[in-house]
Amino acid sequence: MISIKNSKEIECMREACKVVALVYEELESKIKPGMSTWELDQIAEKKMRSLGAIPAEKGYDIGIRGVPPFPASICVSINDEVIHGIPSKKRIIQEGDVVSIDTVALKNGFNGDAARTFIVGKGTKEAQRLVEVTKQAFFEGIKYAKVGNRIGDVCHAIGEYVASQGYSVVREFQGHGIGRDMHEDPGIPNYGKAGRGVRLQEGMTLAIEPMVIEGKPDILELSDGWTIITEDGSLAAHYENTILITKNGPEILTMTKKEKQENNVK
Ligand code: MG
Repeated sequence: MISIKNSKEIECMREACKVVALVYEELESKIKPGMSTWELDQIAEKKMRSLGAIPAEKGYDIGIRGVPPFPASICVSINDEVIHGIPSKKRIIQEGDVVSIDTVALKNGFNGDAARTFIVGKGTKEAQRLVEVTKQAFFEGIKYAKVGNRIGDVCHAIGEYVASQGYSVVREFQGHGIGRDMHEDPGIPNYGKAGRGVRLQEGMTLAIEPMVIEGKPDILELSDGWTIITEDGSLAAHYENTILITKNGPEILTMTKKEKQENNVK
């Protein structure tokens, strides 16, 4: 079932999403070579808690036998890791690494969800282009996130744009509705047919999240039960925001004012 948020619930969504935006502001200013991914996790958790939120990924249980609940506050996935990387004291960030971070903050009963991919220090031109295209894929998708359009219009725009740039989208994982639950209906794949799927309505809150691979789309899961890597070892990037569907178009909830200015977002 798709939940349509009333004005009170939308205010709660704004609050949770603002926490996520502030977490990224802090992570972006602190991430550097030589740090462990565990240190990033600590920074993010501290920030969330200082803002009255809790890290919703911590203890998240996918309910598959043998897979332990997610043990950390954020997901940190480096280079050929696509998503769901587990922060560790042993994993040290190197100059040029492509670091994808996924954060969900729960505040006053509502979730905010966003992902960013940072290139630490000086990355390659190839890495920069992949990260740019992944971000742009989000913006290409939300051009269609308008009342009366269908979710397939958004999915199609993302998939077509990524393919036009010579990259692949991950097909096994997708964006999603979000609210009281981290994952609500509808599912939002990063590919699809225009004109298909549910019609977008005012008050829907959606996490749109292109996951893009430089090479082939195939992925593998590591034995930790969480980390997803590219099968061909090529780089991957992830970019996500929680948006609100309004009668005036999509409103991005998980960006600070500064980040909106940097990305020419109203
Ligand atoms: Mg996310």
